[in-house]
Amino acid sequence: MSPPELTLSSEVKYLKGVGPRRAALLAERGVRMVADLLDYPPFRYEDRTNVTRIRDLLPGQITTVLGKVIAAGLNRTRRGTFIYELSAADASRPGSGGIIYCLWFNGYYLEKNKVFQPGQLVFFYGKAERDHYRGERLQMIQPQFEIVAEEETVNARSLEVGRVVPIYEAIGALGPKAIRRLMWTALEGLGGRISDPLPASVRGRCKLAGRASALRLMHFPDAEKIEELNAFRSPSQIRLIFEELFHLGARLALRRQKMRAAQGIPFEISPAVREQIKQILPFHPTAAQKRVLGEIAADMHSQRPMNRLLQGDVGSGKTIVAVQAAIIALANGHQVALMAPTEILATQHYLYLRRLLEPLPYGVELLISGCKASEKAETKRRLAEGSAHVVVGTHALLEKDVRFRSLGLAIIDEQHRFGVMHRYELIRKGPQPDVLVMTATPIPRTLALTLYGELDFSVIDEMPPHRAPIETRLLGEPDRERAFDFIRARVKTGGQAYVVYPIIEESQKLDLRPAVRMFEQLARNVFPQYRVGLLHGRLASAEKEAVMLGFRRGDIHILVSTTVVEVGVDVPNATVMLIEHAERFGLSQLHQLRGRIGRGTGKSYCLLLASDRRNEISDERLRIMTETTDGFKIAEMDLRLRGPGEFFGTRQSGVPAFRFAKLLRDQEILDWARREAAEFIEHPASRDELDAYLHFLHAEWPRRYGLVRVG
Ligand code: ADP
Ligand code: MG
Repeated sequence: MSPPELTLSSEVKYLKGVGPRRAALLAERGVRMVADLLDYPPFRYEDRTNVTRIRDLLPGQITTVLGKVIAAGLNRTRRGTFIYELSAADASRPGSGGIIYCLWFNGYYLEKNKVFQPGQLVFFYGKAERDHYRGERLQMIQPQFEIVAEEETVNARSLEVGRVVPIYEAIGALGPKAIRRLMWTALEGLGGRISDPLPASVRGRCKLAGRASALRLMHFPDAEKIEELNAFRSPSQIRLIFEELFHLGARLALRRQKMRAAQGIPFEISPAVREQIKQILPFHPTAAQKRVLGEIAADMHSQRPMNRLLQGDVGSGKTIVAVQAAIIALANGHQVALMAPTEILATQHYLYLRRLLEPLPYGVELLISGCKASEKAETKRRLAEGSAHVVVGTHALLEKDVRFRSLGLAIIDEQHRFGVMHRYELIRKGPQPDVLVMTATPIPRTLALTLYGELDFSVIDEMPPHRAPIETRLLGEPDRERAFDFIRARVKTGGQAYVVYPIIEESQKLDLRPAVRMFEQLARNVFPQYRVGLLHGRLASAEKEAVMLGFRRGDIHILVSTTVVEVGVDVPNATVMLIEHAERFGLSQLHQLRGRIGRGTGKSYCLLLASDRRNEISDERLRIMTETTDGFKIAEMDLRLRGPGEFFGTRQSGVPAFRFAKLLRDQEILDWARREAAEFIEHPASRDELDAYLHFLHAEWPRRYGLVRVG
């Protein structure tokens, strides 16, 4: 029986060269079908069309040479470290005179695994440099390498030489060479039977190649320029990136379409409503706050449900805007839910709303898991019955038995701390509530489009008046006493201070001992004359509330805290923050933490106390912090330092794991693909083309990107 014909959906184990071990390795990386394999792009390319002769190498040149190993082995340096040294001479041109030396520091693993043997043929890719210690000979330090067999270099159809060669990131023990071979086998086996999901009309309009040829040329480029390839800008690479982002764009366009068709609540904004809003305002809103409220009010008044993202840097005053929107819903006889990511923030919002709404006839409830069971049951009963009007809470709001008589507005504060799905769970509590999500993390535009592509945007781009600046100083361990003196002096003149410890509240194994010990030490020995409080996520809800209230009232002068104060906490009189082990925090987190101060009119100080265990990246973060307080700049830097995957944390990121596209690199292609996708969804060339594409999208998106929902 002849083997079944290879197709894109064949399992990789049917490929020649893939046994059970390799199949298992590939599956771990999500490569199960031939289609998955082909979607695994090289991360760079090496130009081996003309391998440089060793004799012709120039110092400083970055290139590939092909050499036959003369000798290799581990040497111990005088300083006791190991250097692995190798010498090789041009293989195909014996006697041509060139010898290249290669070095690997700490190359013990090369010795242990007996990687190199004399006589082997090896490609080395790296920078040729003069070895000043030993005459003028040329060496490559830690070059990339690939061992090949003799026949692979002479075979006319070699995958290894005489061409631009794709270099793949290894998959477990599967190195670039093995992957290259598999790609070749797969492409040969398919013989061009690769379907193209991109609608023909789009392909034509955008002048894009078919998928089969794009895939082939991405893996085994013809005569394309090496710089272009390494920048991922060859026509075939662009085509594949475009396709992936087109699918994303299509999903966003479909969601928008669906939302536009939905019937929301057309809230009335009568003079009476305006009067209520005015009545509660504790200060004059800034121009930006007014503009944003105008945008929200227009949405709420309209027939279609609001889906708006309110973005504003830490301290820009988003809360009051949310309260104003809440009043619109309340005055129209509907209920409001406000969800916050931490109990502390929920409690703070609850207290704030209760105080602000005092003169109005609306009841405010708090629902967090720390509430007593009987209280929770009572709150839920009142929400279902409609006698409770506003509920502020945490994830506890998402529990199944939380029901509303008429949820008109769902507000989600600090949206970036929630999973994308949470938003939908809250929205489902009403037939078609308006939705306002707020975030202080200024999201770079590309990511915003990806994460929140179907939302409308409002931005508060102005700080409330009379804010004094925050001065940020970087200190080391020897400065500790001075830092404490500084806090003492500030508290003496009526200020308050935070001392923050790097304990991440979400971590499973939460070890509070260092924070507790520090608290005792500060309370007893360092600031005996002042009242020091301790706040962390493990306190009972009532205790948290008491500590927060004490700090707000000024009964507590110095608050020792874990990162639970990171989001939202608002105590304008606190003007100093000392962050311990500042080198351990991420940039966005430092920015959020620092946002707790500088909320009043007095000048604030942020003291970053870094220990000696620093590295280049943490130093870079700390440097950025001392240089700017602009959240947008900080977010962009953070994204660059960490990459989009980690930017929001993987758990709640909601960013699909793209195979070809890189959001930072491919912003322009994203814009283009989104435009084309919207055009296609709204004005398809034909009904059949649209149907065929939608059929593909619904089947393929979950397979490729899991159940992640975009937006
Ligand atoms: P965030 O956008 O970080 O959630 P908040 O809503 O907590 O900011 O507001 C930060 C602080 O600024 C609060 O103390 C708030 O009362 C104050 N505030 C907000 N808007 C104004 C304004 N227009 N004038 C004066 N103070 C304001
Ligand atoms: Mg806030």
